[in-house]
Amino acid sequence: MIDPVIIGTVALDSLETPFGSVKNVLGGSACYASIAASFFSKPGILSIIGKDFPDKHIKFLNKRGIDTKGVALGEKTFRWQGFYEFDMNEAKTLRTELNALESYKAEVPKDYKKAKYVFLANIDPELQLAVIDAIKKPELIVMDTMNFWIEHKKVQLMKAINKADVLVLNDAEARQIFNTPNLVKAASAALKLNTKALIIKKGEHGALLFTDNKHFNAPGYPLENIKDPTGCGDCFGGAFTGYLAKTQDLSEANLRKAVVYGSIIASYNAEGFSIERLRSIKHEDLEKRYKEFKDIREF
Ligand code: AMP
Repeated sequence: MIDPVIIGTVALDSLETPFGSVKNVLGGSACYASIAASFFSKPGILSIIGKDFPDKHIKFLNKRGIDTKGVALGEKTFRWQGFYEFDMNEAKTLRTELNALESYKAEVPKDYKKAKYVFLANIDPELQLAVIDAIKKPELIVMDTMNFWIEHKKVQLMKAINKADVLVLNDAEARQIFNTPNLVKAASAALKLNTKALIIKKGEHGALLFTDNKHFNAPGYPLENIKDPTGCGDCFGGAFTGYLAKTQDLSEANLRKAVVYGSIIASYNAEGFSIERLRSIKHEDLEKRYKEFKDIREF
């Protein structure tokens, strides 16, 4: 069974970090998120690509057990161009070409509609809303976004946020959406909506999980070798949702474990450009870092 369903972008990225640059490589929120989720479950993605999209990338996703029949074909693939300076927690966008995404209407395949877990990765909030409506009985809707949509489609974005169970935002996005510099206040504003949990990703400094009256703080993994943080947020959300889809346990304790697995896959992802590092990690690598995460917070 397809679980989770992930909607997001499938992209060709061009980017530069202090450690190198790449052009037209595989990227996009749905790609990163589905690869991360595929360590735990069988995700299906909803997105659109163009005729310029290399077939080898689809073959790679399928080989990882990711269902791509929800990927439509348009003229030209979504493209993102960005760079990072020495503070790699912040991506600077140089250019966003929506291309085929501009007129994309998500067609949700029949078997996707039965999914219990949904990850609304970073994409136009109108598409996120369409997926919420199409899935019959979701048990958990996890949602991400970014400044581009906060600035361009705030009304639709707030509608989607009101229907999501878990929000996964970075600190800047949380401040921008809830209009406060204080993350604790942002969390209490989120929890006054329909939201059951707010996760604030703090890049290399870890992630915060706010639920009703509890607060969990996952450390950042002390990475020595960072090459490209693109997609870390998407990996976090995909792994978080994929782990919950596998374990079917929405207790506070299990949400914490899902946060740690999200952080682990995100930390590996930053070690290489595009999805290169994700290709080579194995379950043993996840468990090794899981143990290290436990040791880091022991006192
Ligand atoms: P992250 O680093 O996790 O925030 O996500 C990076 C990925 O998001 C890149 O691979 C981009 O292709 C994709 N991306 C960039 N801008 C947007 C946007 N406005 N909407 C959806 N995806 C985007």
